[in-house]
Amino acid sequence: MSSVQQACAGVVVAKKRQREKLKVLLRRAQIRKRVRAIARQIERDCKGESVHLICILKGACIFLADLLRELRIPVSVDFIAVSSYGKGSLPSGEVRITKDLDRSIEGLHVIIIEDILDTGLTLNYLYRLLQARRPCSLKIAVLLDKPDRRVTEVVVDYIGFKIPDEFVVGYGLDYAELYRNLPDVCVLPTVDT
Ligand code: 5GP
Repeated sequence: MSSVQQACAGVVVAKKRQREKLKVLLRRAQIRKRVRAIARQIERDCKGESVHLICILKGACIFLADLLRELRIPVSVDFIAVSSYGKGSLPSGEVRITKDLDRSIEGLHVIIIEDILDTGLTLNYLYRLLQARRPCSLKIAVLLDKPDRRVTEVVVDYIGFKIPDEFVVGYGLDYAELYRNLPDVCVLPTVDT
């Protein structure tokens, strides 16, 4: 076996070991159904008006992509990136914008799209930041909510699933940049939250 083949085999084994440690919490079919229901709820609330979705990178990208394709109203999209977790899972308490929006949100009906609401620090900060930019309305949609970990109040308009205090990966959520590609939301048992 060549050194390249050996390296590839090593990667396959490492990935298999990673998968074995994971426990599925939410299956893709369950998520699809819930995302569809959220889309219907947004359509009802928007009453035919267009909506501007702001995706918080990178974790919410899959949720955004699925929600976007379910919506049957005029939709525009922008992206914002913040850093709050570093490479691991421990919150720093500090929220920093690493990529700002491309356009003004003044006068728009805006929905912030976030993967998971945990301590609430990120969304609390972003909500206040975006509210100051004078959108016509500002709402929040999160795929996952871990209410046990909240340290600051956040009013969320659309919630996919309430989940227990476990560190989850998949469907866009990462651990040290891995696992985002998993179609299900899984618990990574070895991580301290
Ligand atoms: P908060 O500011 O609410 O504490 O955290 C929000 C961010 O923390 C999320 O956007 C996400 O990046 C990260 N986070 C919180 N809990 C988890 C988790 O269980 N898994 C992963 N992958 N990220 C999490």
